[in-house]
Amino acid sequence: MSSAPTPTGPATPADADPGTFADLGLRPELLHALATLGYEEPTPIQREAIPPLLAGEDLLGQAATGTGKTAAFALPLLQRMPDERTGGDPVALVLVPTRELAVQVSEAFHRYGKDLGARVLPIYGGQPIGRQLRALDLGVDVVVATPGRALDHIARGTLRLGSLATVVLDEADEMLDMGFAEDIEAILEHAPAERQTVLFSATMPARIDGLARQHLTDPVRIQIERERPVAGAAPRVRQSAYLVARAHKPAALGRVLDVESPTAAIVFCRSREEVDRLTETMNGRGYRAEALHGGMSQEQRDRVMGRLRAGTADLLVATDVAARGLDVEQLTHVVNYDVPSAPESYVHRIGRVGRAGREGVAITLAEPREHRMLKTIERVTGQRISVDKIPTVADLRTRRLELTQAALRESLLEDDLEPVRAIVESLTDEFDLMEVALAAVRLAHEATLPGTADEEEEIPQVAVRPHREARPAYEGRERRGGRPRGGGTTQVFIGLGRRAGVRPQDLVGAITGETRVSGRDIGSIEIADRFSLVEVPYAVADEVIQGLRGSTIKGRKATVRRDRDIDGGDRRERRDRR
Ligand code: AMP
Repeated sequence: MSSAPTPTGPATPADADPGTFADLGLRPELLHALATLGYEEPTPIQREAIPPLLAGEDLLGQAATGTGKTAAFALPLLQRMPDERTGGDPVALVLVPTRELAVQVSEAFHRYGKDLGARVLPIYGGQPIGRQLRALDLGVDVVVATPGRALDHIARGTLRLGSLATVVLDEADEMLDMGFAEDIEAILEHAPAERQTVLFSATMPARIDGLARQHLTDPVRIQIERERPVAGAAPRVRQSAYLVARAHKPAALGRVLDVESPTAAIVFCRSREEVDRLTETMNGRGYRAEALHGGMSQEQRDRVMGRLRAGTADLLVATDVAARGLDVEQLTHVVNYDVPSAPESYVHRIGRVGRAGREGVAITLAEPREHRMLKTIERVTGQRISVDKIPTVADLRTRRLELTQAALRESLLEDDLEPVRAIVESLTDEFDLMEVALAAVRLAHEATLPGTADEEEEIPQVAVRPHREARPAYEGRERRGGRPRGGGTTQVFIGLGRRAGVRPQDLVGAITGETRVSGRDIGSIEIADRFSLVEVPYAVADEVIQGLRGSTIKGRKATVRRDRDIDGGDRRERRDRR
């Protein structure tokens, strides 16, 4: 790289100086936390949302997971926390649809708010209520809660909303889908009228608009899924994505690189911290990887680029900031280790390959929950990203054989083979020519294998979370149709029904609050006078049953048992007597 990087990519907004977190007016404690986390620059949603939120305005934001929306609301909220917090009641409440998200969001608050001494508490069903009571009693600044459990605490008088300055509804569409509309209304009734209200949603159906109209005042509107094409998307780039669980990403990256065998590849990460970690991991796995991020001096960066150009490194692991303006002829592959935070950033990244008529490949590793962001990128760029299965060990072996075959063909066509003719001739005195060839190919093939070839492990395939649009609307109805997709299902019997005031949303809330099951995995719900039946995927039935047994529904303990398996993997048709 030259000493001053010159932007050579398409003129997308990502090329412009996007500004820093300090430019957004964040206080030093927060800037310090962000630097420690290795965040180099704000994502588009953060750039747009942070200033109005700091100014105390209401906000309606359309943004999916992966855009950086959590920090977009968490940072201003932490900044607005009064310095002197003597009272014990929370100043901010974040409502989220699931326990998983409650934990994730409160961890984010904790990381960002460490230097400010922020006290953050996640509250959700399934966790012993005693622990939550104690923590609430000690005093908290921010509560991150699922609506059902929040309402429980409000009813007990253990969660007091009188001091709230801000309420955030995160993944609001998901909360409505899960039947939390009434709970949200009830919670907002307890919050002070003078407050800041923030609503984030991946989609903006009419119901969300209604919710916003009712509870937000003159909100600033932000849409990250802009429906306009991004100029300069490189058409020569083959684009694909693999869905993979976070824990398997390093292995998946290795597998994809082995199958693709790029001349040189750049792997984009979100933060410096991740760049360093991944570089180390990939070197440990036998790749020649170099880190490139904004924390490095120009001299260090030049050295890295020199090694890449000289071919002593073949993998560059970089942040967006460090790779801005980078032009390396050898690059054949761009890998997004995470889904980029905005379509513009995606286009900018893949613009690193496919230059000057050369062919390029762009690969994105996405967690299942980031699938929506991929769809947005497809829509905005007007280009298809094929979602492929992670290559299996068998795929890899086939591919390696293909590479050996290609190398042999090339040798047959190009090389002077005379010097080895004598070996073949002497061996054919003893062996069949075919056998000689087989042994030679085998030796050539084994020489190409990495030392770890025998230890290759299968990487678990993960399914796409189906789109919520495909789900039935059920709110307010007694019976909710639909069925979880794929695999068998199990009908779970719950010994509470209409007489106990049970509604579908209570059951969805209880299940998603107690288990890792998402609302969209839940199939039909039938509510009778004295009992209810809920259909859940066979694979998670036991977890659902255990979760429900350990909790209360409408304040009551219920008998919970497996009713029957429907069209299960092993086609068991068992029906317990009710
Ligand atoms: P979210 O869309 O809020 O779920 O965030 C997605 C991921 O991006 C999380 O792992 C965050 O830690 C990370 N992240 C958020 N903002 C930034 C940023 N400005 N720079 C780097 N990583 C970020």
